[in-house]
Amino acid sequence: MYDYDLLVVGSANADLVIGVERRPAAGETVLGSDLAVHPGGKGANQAVAAARLGASTALLARVGDDGHGRLLLDSLRSAGVDTVGVLVGGAPTGVALITVDPSGDNSIVVSPGANGRLTPEDVRAAGSLFHASRVVSAQLEIPLETVVAVASSLAPDSRFVLNPSPPRPLPAVLLAACDPLIVNEHEAKVILGDSAIGDDPEDWARILLAKGPRSVVVTLGAEGALVASKDGVRRVASVKVDAVDTTGAGDAFTAALAYRLGTGASLEEAAAYAARVGAAAVTKEGAQDSFPTAEEVDAL
Ligand code: ATP
Repeated sequence: MYDYDLLVVGSANADLVIGVERRPAAGETVLGSDLAVHPGGKGANQAVAAARLGASTALLARVGDDGHGRLLLDSLRSAGVDTVGVLVGGAPTGVALITVDPSGDNSIVVSPGANGRLTPEDVRAAGSLFHASRVVSAQLEIPLETVVAVASSLAPDSRFVLNPSPPRPLPAVLLAACDPLIVNEHEAKVILGDSAIGDDPEDWARILLAKGPRSVVVTLGAEGALVASKDGVRRVASVKVDAVDTTGAGDAFTAALAYRLGTGASLEEAAAYAARVGAAAVTKEGAQDSFPTAEEVDAL
């Protein structure tokens, strides 16, 4: 028996957001709006998204012994995420400094902080969490060697889902563990090496699959997604909604897909559910604030 439907291993950041009329040039100071502080980071986002859907979820992450770390722990706990695996200390909590201009464009500086100190040793020390988890998911906002350690720490029957964001070339041993590898267009292009691949997402899915994952999912925003496995490439329709803010759609999609796979859904069924969750997430502002409950997904 598994205690957790999903163990997420990844980042937790405080997102510090200021609205500006325009960005400062070098040496310049501009005045902005009041500061807004939001819990974020792809690991924390995916854990919150899964918990909100009703998945029993744990997060393995590292935050600093500071106010931002406490904010993150509070928001995770109030979403129902088990924080027994959230380690504290070693560096300040990761921070994303975000300025938003009137057209809605972001400029972001990330200080990984404690996320960069989540080590392979931390993963090995969390063996009991891995043995208690049906599905394990990760992203790339923590050191790559830590993600490689995650892929080799899975319980015999559990499944590994990787969203390689921010993207970088991946070692074969990591690709081989993915079931599925979940990428958007930008991530597919970075992993495959931009020039070689043309414009057809079905080709990206096939070429990615040939690199070793047991399955691949390519997300296509309002166009839905593609799933690829040894059975071929299939399209998963999107759900038509009035999009307000697409921030966090990818995290909501990945969390929902990982959770549903653990309940026994096929890859195609899980991706169809995840597409509904992603669509619900774009109908509200923000990242974690936009993640739907299972009832809200059913009502869509
Ligand atoms: P982000 O980085 O903005 O969080 P992403 O680029 O990783 O997102 P997307 O492909 O934009 O991921 O979105 C993930 C999934 O969410 C899509 O495959 C789709 O199912 C759903 N989705 C995203 N945008 C829309 C939209 N405008 N309408 C309906 N569904 C959407």
